[in-house]
Amino acid sequence: MNILERLDAAIELSEDETMLVDSVRALARSELMQRAEHYDKTGEFPWDNVKAINNLGLNAMFIPEQYGGAQLSYTAYLECVREITKACASTGIIWATNFHAIKPVIDFGTEEQKARLLPRIAEGGLVSLAITEPDAGSDATGMRTRFTPDGDEIVINGGKTFITNGDVADLYVLFGKWSEIADAKKAISAVILEKGTPGLSVVRTEDKMGHRASSTATISFDNCRVPRSNLLGAPGAGLNILFSSLNKSRPSVAAHALGIARAAFEDGVAYINERKQSGRKIIEFQGIQFMLADMATDLAMCEAWLWRIARLVDTGGTDFGIEASMLKMRASDIAMRITTDVVQLLGGYGYCRDFRAERLMRDAKITQIWEGTNQVHRQLIGRSFLTK
Ligand SMILES: Cc1cc2nc3c(=O)[nH]c(=O)nc-3n(C[C@H](O)[C@H](O)[C@H](O)COP(=O)(O)OP(=O)(O)OC[C@H]3O[C@@H](n4cnc5c(N)ncnc54)[C@H](O)[C@@H]3O)c2cc1C
Repeated sequence: MNILERLDAAIELSEDETMLVDSVRALARSELMQRAEHYDKTGEFPWDNVKAINNLGLNAMFIPEQYGGAQLSYTAYLECVREITKACASTGIIWATNFHAIKPVIDFGTEEQKARLLPRIAEGGLVSLAITEPDAGSDATGMRTRFTPDGDEIVINGGKTFITNGDVADLYVLFGKWSEIADAKKAISAVILEKGTPGLSVVRTEDKMGHRASSTATISFDNCRVPRSNLLGAPGAGLNILFSSLNKSRPSVAAHALGIARAAFEDGVAYINERKQSGRKIIEFQGIQFMLADMATDLAMCEAWLWRIARLVDTGGTDFGIEASMLKMRASDIAMRITTDVVQLLGGYGYCRDFRAERLMRDAKITQIWEGTNQVHRQLIGRSFLTK
């Protein structure tokens, strides 16, 4: 076993979790990986991958049992994100987005909301988390989507952009501003919007550099009406809900980025053990060994930090915002650097589509941008050392 395989073997999972992770790994290798090139080329939404994941009942692993789920540890969830992503980054983010988006309902929903909505997601429903707007990206507090109370209903007007699963979701957890609250931050609220609500429409989907099979939609709300019982928490509770959910989704996007990095690393190592130049295997050149040493060390350190945070969450920890920022930032920077270096290790072949290193490099880029750009994370981390 090499060092990375030893680290994997040390991940603490129960017997049930190990069995599930093994099935996910088998599915990833036998089906998702085989179809990834096709979906990257066509940009079609990978419905058969979503179906295959649902056949394993994977959404259930993050839904509590009393709402139709079969909840497993956060560690097991992160390991599944990483395994799926190693095979197909688009499928990885489609599935992980279900978790990111439904988590606020699990953590902040009323009993009635959870009983009504969670079983559908446990059975395989798709969810979107809708925060970003054309003029409100890194500074989400600039959002303009408006929630106006009207008797027993809330009227929604506005629009969101760059929404993962935005054209296929069954449910949207949507952030906007409560019309009756003047303060820009205190007005932020969260509402659950269901597919098919009149006034909800898809304006466009993006043609992207990577993650080409994961849909990224601009959606608009034109006098959409939802029952007041779809409000998550109180009016104005949105910012607290948002920060709390981001803390759980950032380790998840880090696991996703590390899946891309690990796939590239393994491809690179396999290639340079076979390819020969000047009568020697590429891996025998010292300059190449130095590259490999840096990649492997960064991966090992970052993966160890991932499992540390996973354990923190599984043992009830709640105060891990800076840890999550560090992880998201470093995992995504590593993903970008390792995929770029692996293209280099493959020489001219790395630049061509017959090898997936090229796709992995394109898939890696967005991980430095979404869930808070890495500039924003550097600010959050740096600011945490400010003395009063
Ligand atoms: C494929 C894809 C999927 C996405 N999925 C979702 C989703 O499901 N839901 C959702 O709500 N959003 C989603 N997003 C949106 C994503 O989170 C935003 O793109 C991201 O937060 C950055 O916002 P922006 O694109 O408006 O960039 P901007 O905020 O305009 O940033 C532009 C540049 O300025 C820098 N910058 C901004 N503010 C600062 C600062 N204070 N200090 C230093 N530098 C700064 C940024 O780092 C960046 O380099 C997705 C985006 C993409 C492309």
